[in-house]
Amino acid sequence: MIGHNLQKRSYNVNQDTPSMTDNNSVLAVASALETVRQDISTHAQHYGRTAQSIQLLAVSKRKPVSAIREAIDAGQRAFGENYLDEAVEKILSIDDAELQWHFIGAIQSRKTASIAEHFHWAHGVDRLKVAQRLSDQRPASSAPLNICLQVNIDNETGKAGASFADIRQLAADCAVLPGIVLRGLMAIPAPRTELSEQRQAFARLRECLNSLQSEHPGMDTLSMGMSGDLEAAIAEGATIVRVGTAIFGARAD
Ligand SMILES: *Cc1c(COP(=O)(O)O)cnc(C)c1O
Repeated sequence: MIGHNLQKRSYNVNQDTPSMTDNNSVLAVASALETVRQDISTHAQHYGRTAQSIQLLAVSKRKPVSAIREAIDAGQRAFGENYLDEAVEKILSIDDAELQWHFIGAIQSRKTASIAEHFHWAHGVDRLKVAQRLSDQRPASSAPLNICLQVNIDNETGKAGASFADIRQLAADCAVLPGIVLRGLMAIPAPRTELSEQRQAFARLRECLNSLQSEHPGMDTLSMGMSGDLEAAIAEGATIVRVGTAIFGARAD
């Protein structure tokens, strides 16, 4: 089989300009979003899945509120952010109860209160202390915070994520915390260009989730796949894909 190379199309870096309110850029975000939706749908069909089983998270880190609004106008409702102060500023300034905000960055203990207060999901939970704090600090008026446990699937030094060896215990400890709901696993694999190699890495996360599901049937989420490895992630069962560059253009950082 010839792999789909849809994700290899080049992205419009010119979107990332200070003035993002002109019509050209409105069309750029809307049409990029449509292209990503079509890619998801094409890959889903190819691998015998439904597009509805895959949620697209638009990763808007380092992008202005105007770009997020363009995506909202094009029907996008779920957004991923990495940098807490920047994210909270955007969430408060947009102030739209229809939106779903996902914190996808690494989580420092001292920053948990703000995440617990402002987000619907946190994908980067990799230790019990952080999970406990998120649970304790979740406002009583909010539904429990959805969390994914991040796994360092390639055992990279300096990378966030629990090891496969520690994940079962961490899941058991998190499952009893009242302010959070354990939804699944998240990973950012080491960069690989071959589809088959990308798939192998994601397959290990899927197998790990499958083995946890007997004890934790509510774990229904595989948060994996970004602009460069979307096809592989969908092939291996991603239920949330986190896409930034392909929607909003390249970032400066
Ligand atoms: C930035 C980021 C993404 C989006 O990456 P792109 O390559 O721009 O699609 C997804 N997930 C995480 C955790 C990120 O930090």
